[in-house]
Amino acid sequence: APSNALRTGTPTAPRYHREPGETLIEVSGLRKSFGDNEVLKGIDFTVAAGSVTVILGPSGSGKTTILRSLNALDIPDAGTIRIADGVIDFAKPYTKADLVTYRKQSAMVFQSHNLFPHKTVLENVIEGPVIVQRRPKAEAIAAAEALLESVGLAEKRDQYPEQLSGGQQQRVGIVRALAIEPEVMLFDEPTSALDPELVGDVLEVLKDLAGQGWTMVVVTHEIRFAQQVADQVIFADGGVVLERGTPAQVIGEPTHERTRQFLKRLL
Ligand code: ADP
Repeated sequence: APSNALRTGTPTAPRYHREPGETLIEVSGLRKSFGDNEVLKGIDFTVAAGSVTVILGPSGSGKTTILRSLNALDIPDAGTIRIADGVIDFAKPYTKADLVTYRKQSAMVFQSHNLFPHKTVLENVIEGPVIVQRRPKAEAIAAAEALLESVGLAEKRDQYPEQLSGGQQQRVGIVRALAIEPEVMLFDEPTSALDPELVGDVLEVLKDLAGQGWTMVVVTHEIRFAQQVADQVIFADGGVVLERGTPAQVIGEPTHERTRQFLKRLL
């Protein structure tokens, strides 16, 4: 397909080919409690390949838990999640191999980078490909250099994280996630720990990735980013998906009073 053909050749574009609009993520009946606290009460949504989904919602509504469930950092109590070739029904027994396959479909970028402080930028980026994926080191270095170049950090390859600004560290964190070539990039409030003047750079990187065809799920309070870049907006509240649709639908014409109240505080 033409849109896929455009993706190849750019340094950070996903390598695999998907039909535009193909469903890449299917979440159904996702439930999760922490002790007595039922945080997710039956979450359902789908994500199309190559699309950007933004999850909005008040603090404590379970947004991070949804993302962490997609990466198996939190193990759901129930529900079935399929991400590309990884599928698990969490209410049933599954093998460790199932979990490994499931987990490797996605890579998560956290609020603050969590880079290894004693490793250089390059060493941070090649860690996943070389140690976890056992790819040849020379190949991993070449790929890492191209990725660093694409986010404007080529000349930082031999520096240590503490020598970089918060925004630069966050871009290295994004590159590190890209380097393992996941099917889906998950971002958990990627700009919320940054000084205001650094937020724009990181959002630009996210926009670039969206333009290259990466499938992305982003938890953020950046409404303007959602309006400009998202294909789908999910409004989570009280452990359920209250609204789901295009930015024009969910942000422009929300159907629930709770969504309107929430948006009023952000806009
Ligand atoms: P959001 O991202 O929307 O702010 P979270 O998914 O981070 O919401 O959290 C939802 C609820 O789950 C909160 O009440 C939070 O305290 C609780 N929670 C999240 N992770 C844990 C955990 N590991 N242990 C206990 N409670 C947790």
